[in-house]
Amino acid sequence: MGNEKINVGTQAVWSGEKEVLVHGASQVPVVVSVAYTYDDMDEWYDVAIGKKAGHIYGRNTNPTVQAFEEKVRILEGAEAATSFSTGMAAISNTFYTFLRPGDRIVSIKDTYGGTNKIFTEFLPQMNIEIVLCETGNHEEIEREIEKGCKILYLETPTNPTVKITDIERVAKKGKEVGAIVVVDNTFATPINQKPLELGADLVLHSATKFLGGHADALGGVICGSKELIEPIYHYREINGATLDPWSAYLLLRGMKTLKLRVEQQEKNAFAIARFLQQQELVDEVFYPGLETHVNHDIAKKQMKGFGGMLSFSVKGGMDAVKILLPALKYANRAANLGAVETTYGPARTTSHIECTPEERAAVGIADGLVRISAGIEDTEDLIQDLEQAFAILKEHTVPVGK
Ligand SMILES: *Cc1c(COP(=O)(O)O)cnc(C)c1O
Repeated sequence: MGNEKINVGTQAVWSGEKEVLVHGASQVPVVVSVAYTYDDMDEWYDVAIGKKAGHIYGRNTNPTVQAFEEKVRILEGAEAATSFSTGMAAISNTFYTFLRPGDRIVSIKDTYGGTNKIFTEFLPQMNIEIVLCETGNHEEIEREIEKGCKILYLETPTNPTVKITDIERVAKKGKEVGAIVVVDNTFATPINQKPLELGADLVLHSATKFLGGHADALGGVICGSKELIEPIYHYREINGATLDPWSAYLLLRGMKTLKLRVEQQEKNAFAIARFLQQQELVDEVFYPGLETHVNHDIAKKQMKGFGGMLSFSVKGGMDAVKILLPALKYANRAANLGAVETTYGPARTTSHIECTPEERAAVGIADGLVRISAGIEDTEDLIQDLEQAFAILKEHTVPVGK
């Protein structure tokens, strides 16, 4: 389609749609049909065996879903893409496609809570050896890769303390041992990070988050070479974690404004991070854009922008969180992220609800750790909102007798 030559913001608006437009409509149709009818029995057969392009049954393919896959594929600069009902389906289907009993997988401790559950609860039942390295400890990750692994699974920046892994560095090591290198790019989005260009084999998203951007549709997507995507697609078409066409439409529509949203979210995240750094009642602020972030240099090298995700720990732990978060006016207190509304949530209730307190402590998640997904509101309004909420918190924390 020649769209690969244009920039990412233009791709987000235009790419992937042309093939499914009908009747001169300028917008992608929501095709709800479960099956497709053929008058010519030979043509039906040819489509069914994949000799001819077309659709047969909704669990396999769908035009609206196809447009969504195509748009993400072009944004990630990949040869092929396939989609799923959720981000977790993209992740688990990929594991079950490639892993066999006795295989070894190397990853990090700070993956998304659901991913971590797959590692600690489900894959071990299949006799898969899981090695979870200290996130950001590149030497440890490299040492474990050298011992051999089938899949090297990365997520960067991580949830919720936005730790950074040098994709290029560890992907190179992974390739040396023949591993399939997978990167969860949900937080960065293709606007800010292109894992395939950095040496990854597969890049995946919870499209539920930034790609869709409006917290009104669930979805997942994975991109890579035809050779790797085809077996993942086959596993999904049989096992059935298919993306719904209505959701595909909402995700596609959301993606048109991806670049504008991500830029404003980053501007807001930066301003919030700087504001929080100046607060007496804040212990620590985590944002890869800050010079104080442990891996700021790696983030600067591999990301175009630092994204809209940050977190901070408030003094007084959960008791303080219980005062601070309800005091905010322009905030959803919710488990999602990547939406146009600014969203706050304690890590223990959101990203790491599946983990025990010990597991959370092991990855440095304090009880009072709050994750923020910056929205697209006007920056000064978000800062004012935080100012008044911190003023309320301060009133509550004045020492007794004063
Ligand atoms: C939300 C999320 C997932 C899981 O996606 P769902 O669409 O909720 O299944 C995976 N990875 C990251 C980084 C996420 O934020």
